[in-house]
Amino acid sequence: MSRELLNKARERAEHFLEEIDSRRVFPDQAALTGLSGFEEVFPEQGATEEQVLELLDRYGAPATVASAGRRYFGFVVGGTLPVTIGANWMATAWDQVASSKVTSPVMDKIEQVTSGWLLDVLDLPEESVVGYVTGATMATFTALAAARHKLLARQGWDVEGRGLFGAPEIKVVVSDEVHVTVLKALSLLGFGKERVVRVPTDANGAMDIASHPELDDMTIVCVQAGNVNSGAFDPVAEICGRASKAGAWVHVDGAFGLWARAAKELKHLTAGVEKADSWATDGHKWLNTPYDAGVVICRDQQSLYQAMSVSAAYLREIDTAAQNYMPEFSKRARGLEIWAALKFLGRNGVDELVTGCCQRARLFARGLEGLGLTIQNSVVLNQVVVSWDSPEKTEALMQAVQKEGTCWFGPTVWKGKAAFRISVSSWKTTEEDIQLSLQAIKKCMATVNAGGKA
Ligand SMILES: *Cc1c(COP(=O)(O)O)cnc(C)c1O
Repeated sequence: MSRELLNKARERAEHFLEEIDSRRVFPDQAALTGLSGFEEVFPEQGATEEQVLELLDRYGAPATVASAGRRYFGFVVGGTLPVTIGANWMATAWDQVASSKVTSPVMDKIEQVTSGWLLDVLDLPEESVVGYVTGATMATFTALAAARHKLLARQGWDVEGRGLFGAPEIKVVVSDEVHVTVLKALSLLGFGKERVVRVPTDANGAMDIASHPELDDMTIVCVQAGNVNSGAFDPVAEICGRASKAGAWVHVDGAFGLWARAAKELKHLTAGVEKADSWATDGHKWLNTPYDAGVVICRDQQSLYQAMSVSAAYLREIDTAAQNYMPEFSKRARGLEIWAALKFLGRNGVDELVTGCCQRARLFARGLEGLGLTIQNSVVLNQVVVSWDSPEKTEALMQAVQKEGTCWFGPTVWKGKAAFRISVSSWKTTEEDIQLSLQAIKKCMATVNAGGKA
């Protein structure tokens, strides 16, 4: 039945991946217009399987963003290691409910092994519990739910039962440069996006320790390992030192930056991170797995279990505290692609991937300076913040590059100034890709200088 169909799907996927590096990064207008091919009223009669795939290929593939290609530098978007695509296909065929031993013994085992490897490669406390969620946003949400449980339980307050109405107050400390998704997680948990204490940051976007407020046992501190613009690290060692004396909970947003711990020459940037209480990171960014793959790590297993547990008669076979401690109930075999990436790369491969991206980011930065652009950050990791002579020229250059199509990056505001940001996060990006991108940027600078006409 399905062999022929799956072969056709594989052929189409193969073709897509073969072409991806020679095509524009952002789809052109014709491809975007082509998306109207999907607009039809809900059909009375179904199509053939082949027709369904054919439509995806005809209208869908050309309108994809080539973020799986070599020269996508927007946001912080990794590519996809081929082995993780293969593993993902198999896992999709398996269609496991990766929520417990009862629903999937194989995923229970693979996640268990992967969890040990993650704690090893990221050098985090071995007593920690590891869980697989959609991304760093949900990882932070999950960790902060555990923090909320712990702090309030200590005060004799049952937050899962009674909610936050009338509960003792928790103070939340974040950086002025806090990632928006941490604020989102805080708001979903009832802490409020605005009811936070913001700590000022230094020139590279790291928390200024001198301005750090008093901590106590009713405080949660959210620190960053890898600022989304600059790649900067908060002074985690000092913050954790103060927090552990005070009994405060420290959560680390390390969506991509936590992977610096896996690289010998970068690990020093993350000193002290292991002393925190919880960590959020992603597989789909720097580990180059497919979307969506986030990881939450929490030192205090019981608090996480308590925050997430459910019970019902039909779940009798499942220890819902210890086996299903994630916000999702049903979930796909997300840990499997992380396992595949780690098994394929090994410790040395992960180190090379992370170190290599940082080398190419520094090469990019030097090249951009050579073109007369200004690098606004200290390039400590894989992130480069760039501006030109004026906000208008910076914006015009970014737009021209996006339109030209060789590479792609997006805007930001850095220390109040318009800039664009470059993130080198793909296993695929070579030095040649940096040179090709620099040539395209040079050409676009000339276009902007000539008044916008190529
Ligand atoms: C990307 C990112 C997030 C959010 O991660 P998702 O996987 O998109 O949920 C959080 N913090 C930082 C620093 C990030 O770069």
